[in-house]
Amino acid sequence: MKKTKTYLHNPGYLKIDLMLCGIRLNENAVKSLGIDLSTGYTGITGGLDIILPYKTWVNAPFLEDFAKNSPYELIQKDGKAFIKREGESVKVKIIPKPDFYKLKTTTGIPLSKIGNMHGSYVAITPDTRCEFFNMNIECRYCAGNFNSKGGVVYSVEEVLETVEAAYKEGKAEIVYLSIGFSETPDGGIEFLKPYIKAIKKHFNTIVAVEALPPKENKFIDETYAVGADSVLYNMEIFDEKLFKEICPGRDELIGRNRYINALKYAAKVFPNGTVASNLIVGLEPAESTMRGIDFLTDLGVVPILPIYRPVSSVKLLSYKIPSLDEIAPVYKHLYHAVKKNRINMNWVRDISVITTPIEAMFFTGDMSRFKTMMHKFYKSKLGLKTVWGLSTLRRKLRVREVGEG
Ligand code: SF4
Repeated sequence: MKKTKTYLHNPGYLKIDLMLCGIRLNENAVKSLGIDLSTGYTGITGGLDIILPYKTWVNAPFLEDFAKNSPYELIQKDGKAFIKREGESVKVKIIPKPDFYKLKTTTGIPLSKIGNMHGSYVAITPDTRCEFFNMNIECRYCAGNFNSKGGVVYSVEEVLETVEAAYKEGKAEIVYLSIGFSETPDGGIEFLKPYIKAIKKHFNTIVAVEALPPKENKFIDETYAVGADSVLYNMEIFDEKLFKEICPGRDELIGRNRYINALKYAAKVFPNGTVASNLIVGLEPAESTMRGIDFLTDLGVVPILPIYRPVSSVKLLSYKIPSLDEIAPVYKHLYHAVKKNRINMNWVRDISVITTPIEAMFFTGDMSRFKTMMHKFYKSKLGLKTVWGLSTLRRKLRVREVGEG
């Protein structure tokens, strides 16, 4: 089969190629598909949310200059959306930006500033400061809105209003809270605690926390005890030398070994499949990312592999975007490593901005097998609340045990 056809008809390849190349979209398609460009189409996740076959979510850039040369075009026929490449097309679904983006908190802050939808996740950063910026040791790829001086802190009430609006609209299943670096030894969990507690009290939902590893393991216990269902300590780069160069703050003030030890410990505290760590694809050689995948999965940690795409404000502009052919073997490796280590793939799912381990199965080439697997996988979604219920019970038992010990 011709490569372009393989890319178009395999949702795993198509997702990554769309993230790399973007998609062309003319004014008529914007109009006929009812895309309202006035809200939500800015920033690193400001692309178009599309559901590809097999319920594969992708956030495809379309406003950036590079998207004008994309081999993919979004077309509309009889009210339906298709992605077209070289005379062939595949039917897709366009997901409009949520209506809650147009609302404001009672204090007057647009909810779109507080919560960002990434597939079934609403991502919230209650404190948008990161002290690495103050010391000029920020991660060299960082394109977030973090900085140490002009940052914003949203109140618990403002965050609750955002979560409520996302849930009312039926958009969110998981709340993803993240925090940048602060010099406190707890890695930010003391700050996040009232947010996690309030969300767990008011919503029957899963909460994932992305933070920098705390200095002591007791704060990992605390993260679990206060209600986080999942935790991410992102190494970002596995290679030791590149880690120092690209993540100077993480290297100097936390250290690669602390990442490893914190992840190792967290994987013993949290349920199987709920501890994860990002390794950014393209910022180190593919072999090094694959070594990182093996290392993390041996610890019982889920590697999450975002693709790096530079924006003009960051310090890695000499970086060359890798090709899909270079990247594909890394995702194939991810699927096999997660499976070999019997890590539960149910928790990390339906995210538009990264390829999840279950989606990495698309790279194994066994189309008939993945059809059955995806069917089973999505049937299991019905059981997500059951998994959540069991997880809550497990937490209660563990917290009691640790408290008694
Ligand atoms: S820890 Fe690194 S990636 Fe995260 S906000 Fe700070 S500088 Fe950016």
